[in-house]
Amino acid sequence: MKDKEPPNPFEEIQRQLKDLFKDSNVKISTSGFEASDMEEGNQEDSEPSEQDKKEQALELIRNFRLKPKEIRDHLNRFVIRQDEAKKVLSVAICDHYNHVRQAMSGKSGIASEYTKQNILLLGPTGVGKTYLIKNIARLIGVPFVKADATKFSETGYVGSDVEDLVRDLVKGANGDIELAENGIIFVDEIDKIASEAGAGGRDVSGRGVQINLLKLMEETEVNLFSPTDMMAQMQAVMEMQRGGKPGKRTINTRNILFIVSGAFDKLAESIKKRVSSNELGFGAAPNVEDEDTAIFLNQAETQDFIKYGFEPEFIGRVPVRVACSSLSADDLAHIMTTSEGSVLNQYRDDFYGYGIDFTISPEAILAIAQSASKEGTGARGLLTVLERIFRDFKFELPSTAIKQFEVTPSMIDDPAAYLRQLKDQNAHLQHDVFIDDVKHFAASFEKAHGFTLEFKPLAVDALIQESMQRDQTIQALCQEKFRDFEHGLNIIYRNTGQTVFKIGKLAIEDPDKELSQWVVRSIETMKQSK
Ligand code: ADP
Repeated sequence: MKDKEPPNPFEEIQRQLKDLFKDSNVKISTSGFEASDMEEGNQEDSEPSEQDKKEQALELIRNFRLKPKEIRDHLNRFVIRQDEAKKVLSVAICDHYNHVRQAMSGKSGIASEYTKQNILLLGPTGVGKTYLIKNIARLIGVPFVKADATKFSETGYVGSDVEDLVRDLVKGANGDIELAENGIIFVDEIDKIASEAGAGGRDVSGRGVQINLLKLMEETEVNLFSPTDMMAQMQAVMEMQRGGKPGKRTINTRNILFIVSGAFDKLAESIKKRVSSNELGFGAAPNVEDEDTAIFLNQAETQDFIKYGFEPEFIGRVPVRVACSSLSADDLAHIMTTSEGSVLNQYRDDFYGYGIDFTISPEAILAIAQSASKEGTGARGLLTVLERIFRDFKFELPSTAIKQFEVTPSMIDDPAAYLRQLKDQNAHLQHDVFIDDVKHFAASFEKAHGFTLEFKPLAVDALIQESMQRDQTIQALCQEKFRDFEHGLNIIYRNTGQTVFKIGKLAIEDPDKELSQWVVRSIETMKQSK
């Protein structure tokens, strides 16, 4: 099934804009330069051009040869657990991109009809659903966009339009439509638009959004420019006027892979009841207290989703379904120690940025994991807990001489006390840091104005004291004290040729008074020398 080009309610505006530009000779450039301004071969040899990058990305898809196990192994580097999801996703992704490769090369497989492997990922928040897909998209080199189903309205005039997702994919592909046409769209919170009979609320619009999504999932042509986006409409007209021949204006969704996802708590609950009542009497009832909803969600059938409030056509377009498990405290600990993308590594990088390193004991890892697990937000809880632990360290340590610290259970219990202790222990090193800060200010002053400021030890001490009293950095304090100082120094320079100035304690206590005295003295010197 192939839709006609969707009707564009703003065509009249487009036509009028076109007439306006035709009559008035107005030429507006949408970017800093016209495409023709860019000489070929003018780019750095080492940096591939935008065009080259796009070609490379398309080449990757045209030559797609990954095997399911290779995708699974790649995912294992980043995502902990979720073995079933990894398996199912790897197969679906390989099937899809093998099909895309064949379609791109003009050869089709034996089956004349291809059913797209759109995927439904079920499972609680923060367990890696998005993370799995993001890593897959990165591996294959296709653009990826994510949105929550709840933000879409049926018409697009309130909230967003589902078609915006496709346009966002083009943005993600740096404007390359062909690449976008092979991208991945991820729609989260899909369970929230199920229109359970009698549930009220989103009933009508939820159904409408399902139908709109359904159209995208099958095959349709989406306008490159949103009919409600005036700027985009103007740009389109200007591009037509400038280049004569219009570029491709629509995006075909045939090869875009859709992944929808949601927690489906209530569905898990009802399957749990069904399974336990079915199996009662057989002595094999699953543990109804079991926290992992994946066991039940993996048993969901098409009818369950329809009963839940999905249109049969919609759920029929999502043939690949798999549930992700919730993560235990041990899993969270495992994420911290082994996942290449672990948030702990991000904190490590942040501290490295200031030359600071930390060690973390296995007990501390476990304590963080346990406390993150209590948050009930999956691996996202790790970020919450680490943020609480590290916040003050990230703020304070870069301005100190401390280059190393330890994360232990007692540090986690009271990070503020540990930080105070650490700073006290290193107080003797702090003086050197302050001296460096003063030197740094003097160097930047010299660079900006050409005058050398030589701070005497007593002046440095006075600065340090004031900086601590006012809890202000040396840099900010000096900038405040020596603001506009260069004007006075310029007068002195004209009078005496002096470019090096010694800054004593008095100049710190009252810089303006000191400068005025220097100026007066320079006038006297000048008079004497005449
Ligand atoms: P959701 O399941 O709600 O889509 P995400 O995939 O966005 O959750 O997970 C949020 C973040 O938590 C990810 O960016 C990743 O850093 C981390 N994370 C979640 N699950 C895992 C996992 N199984 N293994 C490693 N990291 C994970």
